[in-house]
Amino acid sequence: MSMDSHIESILWTQNEIATKVSELASEISADLAEASEPPVVVGVATGAFFFLVDLVRHFKFPMSVDFIRAESYGFGTVSSGIPKVSSDLKLNVADKHVILVEDIVDTGNTLSCLVAHMESKGASSVSVCTFLDKPSRRKIQVRLVGNGKFYRGFECPDYFVVGYGMDFAELYRNLPYVGVLKPEHYK
Ligand code: 5GP
Ligand code: MG
Ligand code: MG
Repeated sequence: MSMDSHIESILWTQNEIATKVSELASEISADLAEASEPPVVVGVATGAFFFLVDLVRHFKFPMSVDFIRAESYGFGTVSSGIPKVSSDLKLNVADKHVILVEDIVDTGNTLSCLVAHMESKGASSVSVCTFLDKPSRRKIQVRLVGNGKFYRGFECPDYFVVGYGMDFAELYRNLPYVGVLKPEHYK
């Protein structure tokens, strides 16, 4: 049984994604060329894992990678409320430039929590780099720290999407493209 048969429509193909990620990587590289210290790229597990790998592969400057986990979504498509850090960083980010890498910003609750968390750990700046952005669903404006910037790949229409790291009930993360499931599979 192929996962492709579960997909109703594809929003972004593997090629379109690769082009966008390379553009984002150039933009970030240009901004960080002046940085005095190696930045810390923090992936928000699990959804950002494809995006993080593809992004940092382009970087030519020294940098560290770490992961953090925040829970707000359970096994459905509806947020369970205020997110909490459920698995913290290994690295010390005090006085470091942090780039939070996310799969998708929806209400903004998760990133707001994580930006505040990095700030409380003394990061000198916090940027956000999200693969997808659903601005129409925003409940809380994502605040940055210091001279941090907001980078985003694509603006996403208000669908629940899967693939390129993003799941429904922990499945479909390994699809190399982003799509929408047929309604009978959102169960
Ligand atoms: P927020 O806290 O901004 O409401 O939600 C952020 C998290 O919800 C994302 O990191 C992602 O894990 C999940 N999420 C939001 N929208 C979608 C979507 O369309 N598809 C999937 N698979 N996850 C989503
Ligand atoms: Mg996420
Ligand atoms: Mg999820």
